[in-house]
Amino acid sequence: MRDETLRLPEARFSCQSCGRCCTLWSVTIDATKVAALRRHDWSHVGRGDPFERNRGPGEPYRLRLVDGRCFFLDADRRCCIHSELGYEAKPEGCKAFPLHFTSVAGTSYGRLSFYCPSVSANQGRPLREQQRWARAVLKRVGAGAHQGPLRLNRTIELTSAELDRIERQLVRWVEQPGTSVAQRLGAGAALLAELERRVTEQGKRAVAGCLSEAEQWDVVARYAEWQAGGRAAQAGPVLSLFLGADCGPGPWPRLAHFFGVRLFQLGLAPLRSRLMQGRAWRRQLGRVAFDPPLGDEALLQRYFVHKLQGRRHLGGDTPLIGGFNLLVAAYGVISVLARLSAVHHGRSAVDAHDVASAVQAADLLVVEHATMLHKPLFAVLIERVLASPSLARAMFARVGPAHADAKLDRA
Ligand code: SF4
Ligand code: SF4
Repeated sequence: MRDETLRLPEARFSCQSCGRCCTLWSVTIDATKVAALRRHDWSHVGRGDPFERNRGPGEPYRLRLVDGRCFFLDADRRCCIHSELGYEAKPEGCKAFPLHFTSVAGTSYGRLSFYCPSVSANQGRPLREQQRWARAVLKRVGAGAHQGPLRLNRTIELTSAELDRIERQLVRWVEQPGTSVAQRLGAGAALLAELERRVTEQGKRAVAGCLSEAEQWDVVARYAEWQAGGRAAQAGPVLSLFLGADCGPGPWPRLAHFFGVRLFQLGLAPLRSRLMQGRAWRRQLGRVAFDPPLGDEALLQRYFVHKLQGRRHLGGDTPLIGGFNLLVAAYGVISVLARLSAVHHGRSAVDAHDVASAVQAADLLVVEHATMLHKPLFAVLIERVLASPSLARAMFARVGPAHADAKLDRA
């Protein structure tokens, strides 16, 4: 079903009109749409201006949130713009959600936001059967195009075919049965680090076949040996908290650098300034078990494969190794958020519900929509979640059953 210019992942989605995508995050909107919507009288919906200036990336305006909800979301979780002016009048970002695109070497790769419960539960129509809608969204909102060359790291360039081959190998390891998702991600990171080492030593011919089957097993076996040696646990309590029980920074310098230097330099500074809250939350989180199996391995596996194939992190503007490491870091974020969810619900160990909530929240907070590309990952995590229990609670509050009215029905 793949064609030349559009690749859609194996995923299901049908809007359940739950209203979640109208809460906690704010859709950006262009000046023309703002002017058109201002011509309508919204005084019965709420007080004040429905729009505010957007100081971040994207369009110049955004929809104003009132108590964490879009100005236009009514008490029954219906969109007032949709009810009063029709589907087409809504901002483009609302009509596109949860679909996003990244364009790499002339191909647009679609991916879905796991903040949407239909996506995280993999319920609804296969996305590949919704090509017309996907193409219409792509035409309207476009794809974040990757400009420069594809790169393994800062210095080593890749062709599109090489990137495809590496993607297949990484996906294969993320889907490798018999181990936890953390171990599979660690194996993928180890393979990339080994590939980089060989390319540096041998030149580009080392990429041509990537690593042979035997070489891949050898690298992964060495990674497993390192883990079995318990060095991940020795990495320290803060790292263990972020990385879960069995996902360490690895013996490879790049990972150690990423987790160690970035975490401590960027993460601890804001945490120190909010020490009291941070300490209390860390103590509570430290008591919650997050041992593999995590409660929902299938969801985590699907999530990471989806992100790899969506190209935002593999072949986007970040070099491939950096992009994959950000996904490994997302695993750490999910482990913290799942613990937060367990604490919020009074459980001493995470369950499948906690993992699902954590994946949804991680996608909203750091991976897709918010700030990962504009702010250091751990600074965002700590500022927004660890130091803000109220936001964490809001994050895990149940949105409620789907409303019968298909508020966001696709045209
Ligand atoms: S099911 Fe529909 S309303 Fe709910 S988050 Fe997904 S797109 Fe938004
Ligand atoms: S769909 Fe309507 S209620 Fe939801 S974010 Fe968009 S404008 Fe707001």
